[in-house]
Amino acid sequence: MRIDVMTLFPEMCERVLDESIIGRARRNGIVSVECHNIRDYVTEKHRHVDDMPYGGGQGMLMKPEPIEACFNAIVSQSGSRPFLIYLSPKGRVFNQGIAREFLSKEHICLLCGHYEGIDQRVIDSMVDMELSVGDYVLTGGELPALIVTDAVCRMVPGVLAEDACFEEESHYAGLLEHSQYTRPPVWNGMSVPEELLSGHHARIAGWKRLNALEQTARYRPDLLQEAELSPSEKRYLMEKQLIGET
Ligand code: SAM
Repeated sequence: MRIDVMTLFPEMCERVLDESIIGRARRNGIVSVECHNIRDYVTEKHRHVDDMPYGGGQGMLMKPEPIEACFNAIVSQSGSRPFLIYLSPKGRVFNQGIAREFLSKEHICLLCGHYEGIDQRVIDSMVDMELSVGDYVLTGGELPALIVTDAVCRMVPGVLAEDACFEEESHYAGLLEHSQYTRPPVWNGMSVPEELLSGHHARIAGWKRLNALEQTARYRPDLLQEAELSPSEKRYLMEKQLIGET
């Protein structure tokens, strides 16, 4: 997997991307994540990356030429045209399914806006997808780009200790993850569910499935609409009054 990040603040991204699991995956060559400073591609003498919006309005807009030059450099350096994603509060809202879509593309490029955003002509002529991380406005696309990079890279085989780590997690299979416990078996008078201590594989798997359904029904009932439930699972949730009669 290769991810290129176009930004005015590469150090901000590098600081995060150098750490922990993604940092190790980069150092081991399992993923390639490169940050590019759009400012390096300004050719005009005052090195302005932004300018005032036509028609007036608050703030400054990022100019199109340096973004195009930066993207062209990535294309020629990598030998392929990456799928270009502009991080924007106007875009499709990011989720695990979109992260999986990006994983299958093998090479993506994340364009981080700043100030009031970027010239619309870049979006119209170059961008393949506008992507939001939620219905709120941030100062720049760097944090969203880091979120996308993390979510995609951790699904690359070899990045996590075992692929099952993410396959069992919230959202991967359309449900929230079951509750988890570690030692001690009793803490402040609260015990770990006995099924998890039973050592019985099928009992543990059954508990995890029912608990995942319960968590999903409690916190994200919208996700449950898409889940395939057996008659006994439906009964279980109805008895707990987490779903109505179907
Ligand atoms: N004027 C823009 C608007 O109203 O849609 C907001 C610009 S915002 C202050 C600056 C940059 O932050 C955007 O160009 C975008 O790259 C990034 N950004 C802000 N909020 C975001 C979000 N929710 N998702 C993804 N990117 C976001």
